[in-house]
Amino acid sequence: MPKAKKGPRQSVGLQCKVCKTFGYLTEYNKNNEQLKKQTSGEATFPINKYCSNCKKHTPHIMAKKLK
Ligand SMILES: [Zn+2]
Repeated sequence: MPKAKKGPRQSVGLQCKVCKTFGYLTEYNKNNEQLKKQTSGEATFPINKYCSNCKKHTPHIMAKKLK
């Protein structure tokens, strides 16, 4: 059985930092994240997203890695 190739893309949940509500599922690319850190010194997270619970844009954090 061939092993599934582990790519840099990972599915993660985005959680509102303010109200802790799960708002989004997204894929992020570890390689892009590292590149971004190297070039701009900024991390991808927290990321500003609209939260339907707060009814405004709030910082969202990576909640957990999904399998
Ligand atoms: Zn919220």
